[in-house]
Amino acid sequence: MVVREYHPNPKSHARPRSYVRCRGSGAVSYGYLLFCGMGPLRMIKESEIMKGQACPKDYAANLQKLLKSLNKFRSAYGKPMIVTSGYRSPEHNRKIGGAKNSAHLSCQAADFSDPDRKLAEFCLNNEALLESCGLWVEHPSYTPTWVHLQIRPVSQRYFKP
Ligand SMILES: [Zn+2]
Repeated sequence: MVVREYHPNPKSHARPRSYVRCRGSGAVSYGYLLFCGMGPLRMIKESEIMKGQACPKDYAANLQKLLKSLNKFRSAYGKPMIVTSGYRSPEHNRKIGGAKNSAHLSCQAADFSDPDRKLAEFCLNNEALLESCGLWVEHPSYTPTWVHLQIRPVSQRYFKP
């Protein structure tokens, strides 16, 4: 058995993540899957929100706040969360018929795939968690196959579009 330490970014001062690999067995450990970004504990990344677009300067702080809130929530959820829509430019938002004042326009919202409604159910059952993460949810009855989470405050935790 080989135990190694791995620095995801050599310039980073973050503590190295260790992982264990079983030599010759062909099997990879859970830790190795995490290291590969394939495990359920994988964090939601900036690139998943921006999808190749540059973050407008005015929204850089929103983006960091959004990621922090979403990842705190995701840690409690404990399962993968797949971003289907993050930041939207005004053009893109118009094209897909998004709401005019959508929180997606200011890097304050993300949509997550949820065809089996597991994430929606978790949201509906964990209002206190949403509150502690600083997240508001479009009521899942309006989002049949996805979940919309946003950091821009609205009057109701589960709000109407
Ligand atoms: Zn949305």
